[in-house]
Amino acid sequence: DTVYDNFTATAERFADNLAIADAAAGLRWTYREMLRDVRALAAGLLRSGVRRGDRVGVWSPNRAEWVLTQYATAAIGAVLVNVNPAYRQHELDFALRHAGISLVLASPAFKDSDYPAMIEAATRSLSSPLSLVVFGSPEWDGLLAEPTEDELAGVAAAAAALDADDPINIQFTSGTTGAPKGATLTHRNILNNGYLVGELLAYTDADRICIPVPFYHCFGMVMGNLAATTHGAAMVIPAPAFDPAATLRAVAEHRCTSLYGVPTMFIAELALADFDGYDLSSLRTGIMAGSPCPEQVMREVVDRMHMAEVSICYGMTETSPVSTQTRTDDELALRVATVGRVGPHLEIKVVDPATGETLPRGQAGEFCTRGYSVMTGYWNQPDKTAEVIDGDGWMHTGDIAVMGDGGYVQITGRIKDMVIRGGENIYPREIEEFLYTHPDVLDAQVIGVPDERYGEELMAWIRLRDGVADFTADDLRAFAAGKIARHKIPRYVHVVDEFPMTVTGKVRKVDMRASAIELLG
Ligand code: ATP
Ligand code: MG
Repeated sequence: DTVYDNFTATAERFADNLAIADAAAGLRWTYREMLRDVRALAAGLLRSGVRRGDRVGVWSPNRAEWVLTQYATAAIGAVLVNVNPAYRQHELDFALRHAGISLVLASPAFKDSDYPAMIEAATRSLSSPLSLVVFGSPEWDGLLAEPTEDELAGVAAAAAALDADDPINIQFTSGTTGAPKGATLTHRNILNNGYLVGELLAYTDADRICIPVPFYHCFGMVMGNLAATTHGAAMVIPAPAFDPAATLRAVAEHRCTSLYGVPTMFIAELALADFDGYDLSSLRTGIMAGSPCPEQVMREVVDRMHMAEVSICYGMTETSPVSTQTRTDDELALRVATVGRVGPHLEIKVVDPATGETLPRGQAGEFCTRGYSVMTGYWNQPDKTAEVIDGDGWMHTGDIAVMGDGGYVQITGRIKDMVIRGGENIYPREIEEFLYTHPDVLDAQVIGVPDERYGEELMAWIRLRDGVADFTADDLRAFAAGKIARHKIPRYVHVVDEFPMTVTGKVRKVDMRASAIELLG
């Protein structure tokens, strides 16, 4: 199946179900209405000259038009390029040029950026023509105008010509470790991943999924939108950009059964002063993913947010994205402290990064995966692709994992973030988990900083809970003494209000290291 075939089947079967609720805009679509608009937009795109294989950019924070665009481009075989709303001119120019985009659908001005003006500036630097359509503009309404019978037949014919192995998406990675890379994903990649993630959460057409995570990332568009449309469930969009209060309000108002977030989002929601005022009793499940999920935070989500069946997923853009997932019936201890077991129809292994040999259970090494989910490659970058996908089709993730009993996997960090202090490998993740157990600590990140004597030393960046005045390296030493090995106690403590973040809500440790080096002079 292609994404559009699957979507059409769902939309016909669950025609009267809620499909999209855009809480910020106060708009709702049933599946019948969504199918009508997706077909109209697909016809409009064909009318404006978009063809199979053409790259269409979508540059917008979360809104309902984004979802319509996702399914309309899929219908006619156009390749949707998810452009990050936080991009500034230089990054935008690069994304447009790199992906060879001919049409961009963009949000009207949002926050501090004027999208239309930035795209006009980008057009001047491109050699090929670029059209821009702003959501809600007369041109946008023109694309959505009621199609003729012939035009609808054109959409059906374009859809019928597609193959499940056609590219559907150029999906940029988060840019946590450097410049984002454009992963080319197919219908087979993301449709299967979205469906299977939803199966493991036991989604049915009665579910309503609150999606505060961005659509321009796999978390939103695959684990959110595709998991919903493969099951007839509803997509609830709380706000264009993450807002903890708006998220909990949307859960209460739309009686959501599932809530998504990266750990920092759940931390922000749990820390709301009026947290107890939101009725979260409709929640059953949800997903925490994207970066290491602190056990403490998982337990709070289970206890305080009614999310008894919450799941952790681990994956990456290059694998569509999910590779491992906890099951709703896994024991709680495994559900909060591991990233679960391999997903259906996938293979995983943990290898010695130096030799490529598979390691015995319990030993830390690089996590590799193979199967339907692995991208075809980085767009137009065969050399980069060959660095991560080997001749046997294994994707080398750059993450360090330990395979435990029963196949439960723990991710201990990224190879790039591992700290080597005096010859000892230290996984910051382990120390972060420990720091979360301190009552004054709201959020903690640990990095390595250069050190003459040991090669590297540890530095903890801490966000404190409201009302806590200070937290020093001495406080940390006193707290850690006797609880963790001496060489793992961070030498430096740096208290901050915010961490440097990607817009997908991940902490940019590269930036932290750069600032730390300046701080230490
Ligand atoms: P870039 O590749 O551009 O540096 P990125 O790797 O953060 O950025 P994504 O593809 O969005 O871009 O994220 C995938 C990465 O996120 C994984 O490789 C892993 O390091 C991390 N990750 C995802 N889920 C989890 C999880 N549940 N636990 C720990 N780490 C996770
Ligand atoms: Mg990555």
